[in-house]
Amino acid sequence: MEHYEVTIIGAGLAGITAARRLMKQGRTNILLVDKGKSVGGRLATRRIAGGRADHGAQFFTVRTEELGEEVQDWVEAGWVKEWFGDDHPRYTAVDGMNAFAKQLAEGIPTLLETRVEKLLENDGGYRVYSADGSEWQTDSLYLTMPVPQVLELFRNSTMSMPEPVKKQLKGILFEPTYVGLFEFNKPTELPEHGHLDQDLPEGVERIVDHSKKGISEDVIVSVYMTGDWSRKYYGEDYVMSLVKEKAENYLPWDDLESEQLKRWRYAQARKVVKESCLDVNGDGRLIVGGDAFLRPNDTAGRTRFESAYLSGKDAAAHLRW
Ligand SMILES: Cc1cc2nc3c(=O)[nH]c(=O)nc-3n(C[C@H](O)[C@H](O)[C@H](O)COP(=O)(O)OP(=O)(O)OC[C@H]3O[C@@H](n4cnc5c(N)ncnc54)[C@H](O)[C@@H]3O)c2cc1C
Repeated sequence: MEHYEVTIIGAGLAGITAARRLMKQGRTNILLVDKGKSVGGRLATRRIAGGRADHGAQFFTVRTEELGEEVQDWVEAGWVKEWFGDDHPRYTAVDGMNAFAKQLAEGIPTLLETRVEKLLENDGGYRVYSADGSEWQTDSLYLTMPVPQVLELFRNSTMSMPEPVKKQLKGILFEPTYVGLFEFNKPTELPEHGHLDQDLPEGVERIVDHSKKGISEDVIVSVYMTGDWSRKYYGEDYVMSLVKEKAENYLPWDDLESEQLKRWRYAQARKVVKESCLDVNGDGRLIVGGDAFLRPNDTAGRTRFESAYLSGKDAAAHLRW
């Protein structure tokens, strides 16, 4: 049976960051697992016709020196660029957010299309079971999926957790987000940099033109709905028509070529925890983290790219095996 020092469940930014840190410290007997076909999680890009669109995170801001230093390296590597904004510049990925996640994850031992469905605590650490029937042994675990999915994994496993930890995890609330993706055969009148988030109708969070953003040959636009709006209409079959109605004054609908709707069940946390990761049993061998886990001194107070990055970084420092 395979054995790893650390298994990281979830190859989003938190998981990738933790894996990168561990490898930098010389820990190579690690495994990054994800149920998806690609690494990245909510750093997601979809190919549409001859173009592409980010449909998860669009950009990130930098409030800590730690991330700032990394970003300089990423800029030099040609992976990210400053997009727009003065106070807190928005950075975005040069080839789309998912390609950036892949660049970050290069060289990390990774297992994709593997959904972890059960954990079992034993003398040596933990046995991990996946939905496809594979299993392996690990000394420690870092769980990075959205917290409702962490709680589900605990329910499926024969593991309990201390009441105060459970209470903290249950206090984290995620909300959904609908994103309409539209292909046009004519340029839009969105601002030159392609991003609009001011004075939009109620329910619309932002509109992004990916050809103006610089990642798409074709004109592909994403319309992001707010968390409140997405919660209100979650699961309704007429969501797409409402999205189009809301955005009717902003886009060249007569020249629409195709449309798709993306639904994120767990997009961003509405209620967060003010610790960058939780050590479930206090021994550094079972850590829960991800973007909903903010450092106590976090100045933005919001779940985002940077909070996922810092959670991953802090978890790597906290893990024991
Ligand atoms: C629509 C949308 C817009 C956003 N916009 C922005 C933005 O503009 N700026 C910004 O800073 N942030 C934004 N965010 C938030 C940002 O994308 C996230 O904060 C960050 O990417 C989260 O990273 P993470 O590693 O914590 O989680 P995730 O990226 O969600 O990674 C968790 C991973 O766990 C995997 N997983 C789940 N369950 C299992 C299982 N049982 N077994 C194996 N794998 C599993 C999932 O497939 C996923 O890949 C946005 C998010 C969304 C959805």
